[in-house]
Formats: sequence, structure tokens, C-alpha cells
Amino acid sequence: MSLIVQKYGGTSVGSVERIRNVARRVAKWRSAGHDVVVVPSAMSGETNRLIALAKEIQAQPDPRELDVIASTGEQVTIGLLAMALLELGVKARSYTGWQVKVLTDSAHTRARIDSIDEVRLRGDLAAGRVPVVAGFQGIDGEDNITTLGRGGSDTSAVALAAALKADECQIYTDVEGVYTADPRIEPDARRLRNVTFEEMLEMASLGSKVLQIRSVEFAGKFRVPTRVLSSLTDPMLPVEEESRSGTLITFEEDPHMAMEKAIISGVAAQRDEAKITVHSVPDKPGIAYAILGPIADAGINVDVIVQNVSHDGSTDLSFTLGRGDMPKAMKILKEQVQPHIKCRDVTGNEGIAKVSIVGMGMRSHAGIAAQMFRTLAEEGINIQMISTSEIKISVVIEEKYTELAVRVLHKVFDLDRV
Ligand code: ADP
Ligand code: ASP
Ligand code: MG
Repeated sequence: MSLIVQKYGGTSVGSVERIRNVARRVAKWRSAGHDVVVVPSAMSGETNRLIALAKEIQAQPDPRELDVIASTGEQVTIGLLAMALLELGVKARSYTGWQVKVLTDSAHTRARIDSIDEVRLRGDLAAGRVPVVAGFQGIDGEDNITTLGRGGSDTSAVALAAALKADECQIYTDVEGVYTADPRIEPDARRLRNVTFEEMLEMASLGSKVLQIRSVEFAGKFRVPTRVLSSLTDPMLPVEEESRSGTLITFEEDPHMAMEKAIISGVAAQRDEAKITVHSVPDKPGIAYAILGPIADAGINVDVIVQNVSHDGSTDLSFTLGRGDMPKAMKILKEQVQPHIKCRDVTGNEGIAKVSIVGMGMRSHAGIAAQMFRTLAEEGINIQMISTSEIKISVVIEEKYTELAVRVLHKVFDLDRV
């Protein structure tokens, strides 16, 4: 007998019939002798609807109140799912984040989990009950409701699995696992049977939204065996078969597997980015800090940074950031920074995207970057910025070429072949 945490995403609980199917699946795992804790997301589209509703009252919603509203989607699905389980004769009880106590910091709309009190859940498991715990939400030290950022139910589930020392965390979603590229962009994308934790971390941070990056960080820190699999298969699929399906995140590179593995494991794309360029700044010590310090102080994360070679003692500095942060960053640069550093201009571009290739094999193979750049050049795609790590290469390009870039890179690195 093992203890399993199962997370079901928005599509997986998107209708009453789907919720009934989730209950059937959970009941199946219970009758195979496993203890199960379930973490549902809100029904698909519901969190968007709640946020839009809030914005009708306040264009920039108060973060504390927004969390009160956005967290309600999950409160509906935990109740519905617990009821569906009871209907099947499975003992179950729903809990909000604050009832469990999922303690977080106070960073509303993007809170981090500090600890989880698992005592109550253990009591339920001992009594043969299935705890159904709301994803995405927690409570801070002052009893304010918090949420964990979009896609945060993944993190709720992996953190619960860590707290309970579960044997596996199963992330059920609307695709069959982690693919070599987003299957909605690249029809020839293949499911990976395994992906290393490092690769998954890069893919999640580079736009593969199949897992929230913080869930992958949790999985790595606490070594939580995590599997991504489909909730859209027959709920009565035998447990032995289901437990081998999907994609398993691995922590040690199996040398046997590594030999068979492709150099590149996946292509990722991120569209919601923007680029800011500060033109003709004096090329002297302290300039990057003078520009990026106030941006950091405003809590804005920057991503790729490029500073050009200086001509006549001045240079251009460009960086990318989340598109939503662009107006705030432009205001800071124009009003606070420009008057001090005497740059010529500050310009912003919202029409960019970042496309990346990821793979452990890159560490031991030369020429991967050259092959990537040649492939993009052949399609007439201009590279605006480049950033690399040991196991990834990212390029910033014009947004309209995102899909084309994903497809040609997927093909040139043979990701469509088994
Ligand atoms: P859920 O509601 O279950 O949390 P998400 O929409 O958050 O589901 O994540 C699943 C989606 O992630 C898929 O439908 C797919 O379009 C997208 N996706 C992006 N990149 C990948 C990838 N490399 N592998 C699988 N899915 C991906
Ligand atoms: N319901 C939340 C969202 O839409 C959390 C999640 O689905 O993981 O972002
Ligand atoms: Mg998700």
C-alpha cells in the first residue's frame, strides 16, 4: 500500500461529468489499496472569470481582496468532488487551504508555501477517508487568504506530497504527460517517458506551462517522485497500467537511459514577454545598477539582459520582462532613471517571444547553438537576444514567428522521431 497525492487540473474538473470521472478514478486507486489525497484546481476558465469580475470593480485589484475572490474557484470543486466520492461510497472530506493549514508568506497573488500542517490529513487517512484539499490557496501568518500564482495547484499538490512524504505525486492534466513541445503548437510532439528534474525546471521556467515552476522546485528540493499523466483516459484503466503512464520526473540520470536519449529533450516558448531598451547610456561603472536597481526595487523580475559594445563611450542596454510589468517599468525608467543617467531614449517592445531548446545532452555536445541559429536564419527569423545555460539556449524573436520557430527547431533536432 502506498500514499499518493493526485492533483487534477481545470479541464480535468471542468464539468460535473468530469468530476464524476475523477471520483471514479480516485475510488479505483482506493480499492487497489492505496491511500489517496486529492488536490483539485478550479473548473477551467473559472479563475479567469473571477479575476475579470474583480477587474470590473478595480482596474488594478487590491491584491488581498483579489486573493479572497480568486481562491473561491477551488472551494467549489473540493465540495463537488467530495460529494461525488461520497456518492460512490468512498469516505471523503473537503478542506480549504486555511482549514488544513497551508501556511504561506504574505505576497498576495504569488505567495510561497512556508509549511503545511499535515496532522488533520493523517487523521483522515487513518480513518479511511480521502482528504480533498483545495489547490492554489493558503493562509499567511495573519490569517489572510493567499494564492500561489497562476497554475499554483501543481505546487499545492507537490508541497502536500512532500509534507506527507507521499510515495508519488500524480499531476493529472489534459495531455498525456510532458511532451517534446507544447502539443497544441507542434502536432508531431512526442510524450517523454522520463524527464530529468533539471530539464523540467528549465522547461517550466521557459514557458512549458504543463507544470508551475515552483512545483518543480519543490519536487527537486524534497525529492518528491512526480508524474504527469492524463485525466482524460478511461477512469477504469487498470491501476498497474496507469501507474506506468505519463511522464516521470527523475532525479538521477539513469546511465542506460542517458545513452539512448536525444541531445535535446524539448522546445519551449514563452509569449507574454516584453523588451525594453535604454539607448545611448554612458558606458561607465554603475550604469546597469542605476537602470536595473529601481526595477528590482519595484519587485519586477527581469530575464534576458544584453548590453552592447560601447561606441564613443555610450552603449545600449536591453532587457526582457513579463509583459504585464512593462507599463510600470517604463514609468520608472522614464521618470526616475532617465533624468539621472542622461540616456538618449527608453523604448519598449511588446511584440516579442522567447523560444528555447532544453536538454542534458547539450553539456557534452558542441555545435548545438550554431545549429539552432542556422535553422532560424534559414527561415528568415531574426534573433534579437540570446541567453544560455549549461542545458538550455534561449532566443528572443519577433512574436509572430513563435510557432514557426518551435516547429523548425523541433524538426531539426529530430524530436519528432522516436
Ligand atoms: P491543468 O489545467 O491541468 O493544470 P495546464 O493548462 O496548466 O493544465 O497545463 C497543461 C497544458 O500545458 C497542456 O494542455 C499543453 O497545451 C501545455 N503545454 C505546454 N508545453 C507543454 C509540454 N512540453 N508538454 C505538455 N504540455 C505542454
Ligand atoms: N485555478 C488556478 C489557476 O487557474 C490554479 C491552477 O489551476 O493551478 O491558475
Ligand atoms: Mg496548470
